[in-house]
Amino acid sequence: MNTKYKDIDGDVQYVKGIGPRKGDVLKKHGIKTVRDLLFYIPRKYLDRTQITKIGDLAPDREGTVLAEVESYGFKYTRGRKRLYLVNVTDRTGILELIWFRNTKYLDGLFEEGDVLYISGKTGKTVFPQMAHPEFEFLSDDKDPLHTLGLIPMYPTTAELKKFHLDSRGFRRIIREALGDYYDHIGEDLPENIRKKLKLQTQAESLHQVHFPESEEALERAKKRMAFAELFYMEIMMAIRRHRIRVASRGIEFDKPGALVAQIGKSLPFKLTSAQRKALGDIYGDMTSGNCMRRLLQGDVGSGKTIVAALASALAIENGYKAAIMVPTEVLAEQHYINMKRLFADFDIEVILLTGNVKDKTAVYDRLAGGKECLIIGTHALIQSGVNIYKLGLAVIDEQHRFGVRQRVDLIEGNRRADLLVMTATPIPRTLAMTMYGDFDYSIIDEMPPGRLPVKTMVASDGSERQVFDAIMEHVRRDEQVYVVYPLVEISEKQDLQAAVDAYEKLKHGKIGECGIGLLHGRMSSEEKEQALREFSSGKIKVLISTTVIEVGIDSPNATLMVVIGAERFGLSQLHQLRGRVGRGKNKSTCILKLTGNLSDEGKQRIQAMEATNDGFRIAEFDLQIRGPGEFFGTRQHGFPEFKFADITGDYRILDTARKAAFDIIEKDPKLSGAENRIIYDNLAKYYSGVFKLTEAG
Ligand code: ADP
Ligand code: MG
Repeated sequence: MNTKYKDIDGDVQYVKGIGPRKGDVLKKHGIKTVRDLLFYIPRKYLDRTQITKIGDLAPDREGTVLAEVESYGFKYTRGRKRLYLVNVTDRTGILELIWFRNTKYLDGLFEEGDVLYISGKTGKTVFPQMAHPEFEFLSDDKDPLHTLGLIPMYPTTAELKKFHLDSRGFRRIIREALGDYYDHIGEDLPENIRKKLKLQTQAESLHQVHFPESEEALERAKKRMAFAELFYMEIMMAIRRHRIRVASRGIEFDKPGALVAQIGKSLPFKLTSAQRKALGDIYGDMTSGNCMRRLLQGDVGSGKTIVAALASALAIENGYKAAIMVPTEVLAEQHYINMKRLFADFDIEVILLTGNVKDKTAVYDRLAGGKECLIIGTHALIQSGVNIYKLGLAVIDEQHRFGVRQRVDLIEGNRRADLLVMTATPIPRTLAMTMYGDFDYSIIDEMPPGRLPVKTMVASDGSERQVFDAIMEHVRRDEQVYVVYPLVEISEKQDLQAAVDAYEKLKHGKIGECGIGLLHGRMSSEEKEQALREFSSGKIKVLISTTVIEVGIDSPNATLMVVIGAERFGLSQLHQLRGRVGRGKNKSTCILKLTGNLSDEGKQRIQAMEATNDGFRIAEFDLQIRGPGEFFGTRQHGFPEFKFADITGDYRILDTARKAAFDIIEKDPKLSGAENRIIYDNLAKYYSGVFKLTEAG
């Protein structure tokens, strides 16, 4: 081999066994450097750790044997088919190896007395036989790569396979790369941390990940690699947090005064202690000189809106603007109506900005003006042209519906503004620490008093009559009903039509006499506002709708939620929808009406909904079914993708990584100390791109 300095970040083609053609196809698959190749991780391992004696081989089982070639050659069946046969022995018996296809290359490969490792599945025959086994010749200077040990299986594609880059091919080149570059792999964790936590070097771990000595060694190596991934993520979080909290000054609001007190007094209820505590956290941040970055989590119906309103009141009485951004137009309309009610008596302007608002220029002018006010809006708030002067507080409601980028955009130009993000999705702890690691965290873990649990029932396909009766029953008691139709992009037109048809049909019947309304995303702003108003005043008893009411909509008198085609909804969606009822004093019901057959996953979802009302358990379940990427729609949202860390588990590793990282940044925020040099270098080289999008403020 040449002795020139080997660069781990150099072209993958420098690895022995990779020519220009292989190099090109690897690069096409994202494997550009030697390091990329070493970080190409097996998707699973075959357990070939035991050598079995031929005499002990059982039929129809996987096994590895070490045996000597006794005879070999072509053989023809009676049907004139050509086979290749090799008999091997280890003195406990004879094993027949048989090939039906691709026999040509075998001829001339074997000699009597050759010793082979052979792995494969035995046939069902009485005498031991393996068809198309894997085999390797025993060699003095190389361990078997394919037949003995925990054998790595690599992800591959049809195109890669054309260049012999199946698992066998990857094993070969990765073994070359590991052998040749081992001493140049470098270290990514400072020695003091490795010592303290008893972690192996990066090189050793990578070696074990590809060619593990044992299950234990593999587990240990994977954990070590997971730790490093999480450690770097937390380093980024710690740096960002430091920059926002310590290095940049926020607004130091005066303590809550008359306005906050008066609005508090005007409420028809007393805040729960969980709400008071959350508000205390928020006021604490706002009145300090640091920038607030706080996540407020509370299950559907726990009363987050009023907390946001009271936080806004503090910014407003200090002469600043407050903005609440929500994911849907309908929710914006509703918040707008409620906030006007709450703030109007105190002569505070409430402004609505959605895509449907007609005179945008007039609104933009007011936002750019000097007067304090409360702004409610959708994505329209972050369109170019919007410029909010003196924004003191930004609230993002139903945060999980927005991208990370968007939450940055809202405070763009108002770097000192406080930021509160709210979500009803109970985020499992590891995920919360991953996604909001630089945020402080408050939780409303208590429901307003007097709430009764919502009863959930499943109505099978064909039970329209019963559902209709249930609706009438609630209407007769003067309670209100939501009927929700699914709406998905690919079949949007038909979906919408189904809701409209149902509305038209019911309007001319008994339900129509009691008051029926329609609400969907394609209606004009005025129509939506009118429907909401009439529902909230009680004029509309039954609201036919699509998923536009999924988040945020609030009407305490609504006691029945009928979800049509429940099998088409996701779990979190169903939980959100169910959360629209059970908000008042009366007992509420949720009917999950099926309109088709249930898939297995659909069955699981419906069962989970019947089993529990606990949003936390439902979220964890959802996370398991769909995985984190889907769960949060994180692909678009710049969520880091890990090779080793499992953010649905690994809580302890994350915790350790976080503590270590935050500790380092607190003492050495610029990473200028000698022992932190490694972190600085690795961060700059390998991680800056990975975590860029998670920048939040
Ligand atoms: P979410 O947390 O899902 O956004 P909302 O803020 O919409 O919940 O509140 C749900 C309902 O509970 C609203 O009707 C609201 O007025 C009511 N509510 C909020 N806080 C309390 C409280 N402390 N006591 C009684 N009702 C409350
Ligand atoms: Mg809400």
